[in-house]
Amino acid sequence: MENSVPGKHLRHQAAGHDGTLTDDEELLVFKPCAAQELAFYKQVQESYVVQTPANLEKVNSILEGGDVPFHYWIPSFLGVLEQGTHTVPDDNSYVYSQESLPITESSTPDSISFETRTNSSTPMNIPIDIQSVSRSGTLTGSNNDTKSYIVLENLLKGYSKPNIMDIKLGKILYDSTTASTEKMERLADVSANTTSGSLSFRICGMILDKNNNLLQEFISNEGNSEYFTIEEDYVLLNKLFGRSRDESNILHAINLFFNNTSLSTERQQYLKETFLKRLSLLYNTLLDTPVRMISSSLLYIYDSDSKRWDLLNDEDSIVRNNFLGSRIDSDNSDDDDNDDDGDNGDDDDDENGNNNNSNQCLSSLSLIDFAHSKFVAKELGCDENVIVGVENLIELFNNL
Ligand code: ADP
Ligand code: MN
Repeated sequence: MENSVPGKHLRHQAAGHDGTLTDDEELLVFKPCAAQELAFYKQVQESYVVQTPANLEKVNSILEGGDVPFHYWIPSFLGVLEQGTHTVPDDNSYVYSQESLPITESSTPDSISFETRTNSSTPMNIPIDIQSVSRSGTLTGSNNDTKSYIVLENLLKGYSKPNIMDIKLGKILYDSTTASTEKMERLADVSANTTSGSLSFRICGMILDKNNNLLQEFISNEGNSEYFTIEEDYVLLNKLFGRSRDESNILHAINLFFNNTSLSTERQQYLKETFLKRLSLLYNTLLDTPVRMISSSLLYIYDSDSKRWDLLNDEDSIVRNNFLGSRIDSDNSDDDDNDDDGDNGDDDDDENGNNNNSNQCLSSLSLIDFAHSKFVAKELGCDENVIVGVENLIELFNNL
């Protein structure tokens, strides 16, 4: 697929397969489309609440009750991008299709009301110019294959120096209804020999700003080079690092992620506490969500550019801004909601070129990777396999 690539490769990928792309402005992520993942995102999309006054009222009452709707935890889903070669005009190298979905009140995981998003607009806080996304394509080859991508919000948008950790949830890593015997045996083996088995979660990878704490760690201790790659500004800890962790050193590994000396110790502490709050909120969401997520991950992101922290006065939001425009604040109810309501897609940029509407976050926690995920009937209850992992993470974060 030499010259059939829309946009460019996604930078800062903490784990997973190659082939995920982004647009020129890095607002979106294009992930090679797997049918099950697409189906999952579509089902979640059906539960998106369109920002009408009536719906907002309902949502606010839900939020006051405390539980964060499931879709707040996952990247916004924008549609499917189909790369085509023959039917598109010169500078529209591929077609962006945002499929409208039927209203199906019954098939959804929670009790919010549902409306279908329309084709005609992109109901997001982030003003995304679909045309410019299309124009950024460089497809010129004579490849006859049609390749599809799931179009997602880039969770890194707005970050200046992102640090990322991908933690895979669950002890059971395969779907016994679809996996081959070979795959089941292989993944049972991985689970048995890693913290997946003992703690129901495993670090799959980290990307860390090359800070002093990290460098000291690698210069002094186990400078085991099969675990990491040093790049110009970043150190990448790979899956072998994660697989080699055990109950005795997992706390140290998580601390390594947060004890980033590019940030003050207060800010490091803030991050540990905030991610603990997020984990507790997510836990509540998951208790209410009849889902089965095999091999999904928690994606931890924070910015280690202290200039951005200064600029935002250390103000972060607990849960990512979403389509809803309203956001859930931390439990300290200080009045910081002064400039981000009522955004109607006006794209005023701040002095960093960041879009004011798109990212006020200094850190975030998200669920990603739904290639083996599905919703189940409400009676079947929550996803025990995943919940145990979140429980263990909460316990661990309590000890950071
Ligand atoms: P795979 O199915 O190949 O494991 P994932 O969905 O788990 O793919 O993504 C792999 C990596 O790509 C993640 O660890 C993360 O770093 C990055 N990534 C995935 N989705 C997003 C997103 N929406 N925004 C930013 N980064 C993402
Ligand atoms: Mn993954």
